[in-house]
Amino acid sequence: MNHARSAALQQRAESLLPGGVDSPVRAFRAVGGHPPFVTRGQGAYLWDEDGNRYIDYFGSWGPMILGHAFPPAVEAIQAAATRSASFGASTAAEGDLAELVVKAFPSIEKLRFVSSGTEATMSAIRLARAFTGRKYIIKFEGCYHGHSDGLLVKAGSGVATFSIPGSAGVPDEIAHLTLALPFNDLDAVQKAFATYKDQIAAIIVEPVVGNAGTIPPGHGYLEALRALTTVEGALLIFDEVMTGFRLSLGGAQELYRIQPDLTTLGKIVGGGLPCAAFGGRAEIMNQLAPLGPVYQAGTLSGNPLAMAAGIATVGYLVKHRVEVYAQLESVTDTVANGVAAEASKAGIAMTTNRVGAMWTWFFTGSPVTDYASAAQSDTATFAVFHRAMMEQGIWLPCSQYEAAFLGIAHSIADAEATIAASRKAFASVAET
Ligand code: PMP
Repeated sequence: MNHARSAALQQRAESLLPGGVDSPVRAFRAVGGHPPFVTRGQGAYLWDEDGNRYIDYFGSWGPMILGHAFPPAVEAIQAAATRSASFGASTAAEGDLAELVVKAFPSIEKLRFVSSGTEATMSAIRLARAFTGRKYIIKFEGCYHGHSDGLLVKAGSGVATFSIPGSAGVPDEIAHLTLALPFNDLDAVQKAFATYKDQIAAIIVEPVVGNAGTIPPGHGYLEALRALTTVEGALLIFDEVMTGFRLSLGGAQELYRIQPDLTTLGKIVGGGLPCAAFGGRAEIMNQLAPLGPVYQAGTLSGNPLAMAAGIATVGYLVKHRVEVYAQLESVTDTVANGVAAEASKAGIAMTTNRVGAMWTWFFTGSPVTDYASAAQSDTATFAVFHRAMMEQGIWLPCSQYEAAFLGIAHSIADAEATIAASRKAFASVAET
């Protein structure tokens, strides 16, 4: 594969943008090789500046469930753009998308649109603190909830990829208010509630962790978090930025039948445009300005292009719900198991965690149930595998601590091509 143009563009980018990127994992530091500079996407494929084609298994890190340049979304964005990119005033589209979200997520009575998952979780935490009058929050090691100060403590995604314990620039006084506990460990949560009696405002959790790689909740774990928060007078916040509309139309909360107090959404809800949301019980949401004392705002919140893309995407998922989620399940099952079988044939230790169209191949022979067990993975071998797959036109998320995704444009033929490529990639792994 030729990478000359991408390499030259990377060099220019590095002189202008820190690390050459606007978001750290894009720099491919964990896996090495050249980050391809993308020119276009169509369906399940991406093309780079050197004309190479890739099967895309990260889907813009989650949003592209309907594939790239999905015609109804393209038309909706084009039509909205002709009426102006932004007004900073109310539009009917905000209510249209809000209605779709509220119907899909019965725990959400009211919501507010923002422009990123970071804003959604940051605002949900502020709201939870105001509503309960308490200041501590519980999060889980390896979960990533965006890059606001208090949520970077023991975070996943790029924070885990680069082995950063949190972030420089976050005062201890703020980090101190975040209690980071191991995922899937109920005892740890019970102890925290006992130690910080009546001081914990909320638990925020990725109900299926994606940002330490994919880690499903243990049997009864989410139910227990729901019961404990209710008894202790704390709020339960499901961060469904990744899982919302992906694991099922109504996200992980529909799959596991849990009603959180607040939910954060992002990625799919905006169909690839900068859009996210937080919502929940009306009694809590009504604390937001202008009704209540919790301030939260955004120049581009509810942006008309983002609303148009979100309505087209979520509207399609609603209309074709049964076929969409059945197809996602079947193609993901084929590719996830097929590659795992090749690893096994090649004698490579691998644990595959999958929930719906979200999965991770961990390079470890032991079960992965929390961040500590995910961190047992052989990341050097993952890097060799990743590079060998990229060279064959298979673009997997460029860190062991990320989930892979696919969308409705991925065919069984794509899955089979991926399995065949993995056979060769595992051969190069075995050689190193
Ligand atoms: N929460 C979760 C679960 C996420 O996966 C992410 C981003 N990957 C975020 C929050 C932050 O979203 P954003 O990058 O849009 O700020």
